[in-house]
Amino acid sequence: MLTCGCGRWMHTEGIEERAHGDGALQWFIRSECRNCGFKVGVDVPAGQASGLVDRVIWSDEALHRLDRMPPYMAALFRDDVEQDMRVRGERVVTYDALLRPLTGERIEWDPEAERRLDNVPAPVRAMARIELERTAAERGANRITVALMEEVKARYFGMGAAREIR
Ligand SMILES: [Zn+2]
Repeated sequence: MLTCGCGRWMHTEGIEERAHGDGALQWFIRSECRNCGFKVGVDVPAGQASGLVDRVIWSDEALHRLDRMPPYMAALFRDDVEQDMRVRGERVVTYDALLRPLTGERIEWDPEAERRLDNVPAPVRAMARIELERTAAERGANRITVALMEEVKARYFGMGAAREIR
């Protein structure tokens, strides 16, 4: 954890995703001491924020994306994504992590598909939703159906996890 000169831990204020000249993605991590107000920014290669981020945090780019979702959807989505991050032991929610499943048209769920997803344990559910919506988006489809679920279940989640999607 970052420690300020005054002795207190630094609070992570935000993260910007930046592409550098050579195309490598970097994270610019902003931290602030809430005791004395000292601020610092650190550039790290994307994915290497270990020890510099004090909690699960969304990059500015990911937050911007979240802001554009309808509020009721954003709240649910945010919870699922953050729970998934904790399960994986990761702390930085990036634009890419969010966007892949959501590109293209807004994805609708058939009621039966949605009902099935509700039966999936939460940590798997967030990933399942991402994979399903990404697959649909890649095909230019805008609906998640039970048939698509069956297919993705077999393709992405293997035998073990497949048992959890019923
Ligand atoms: Zn300080």
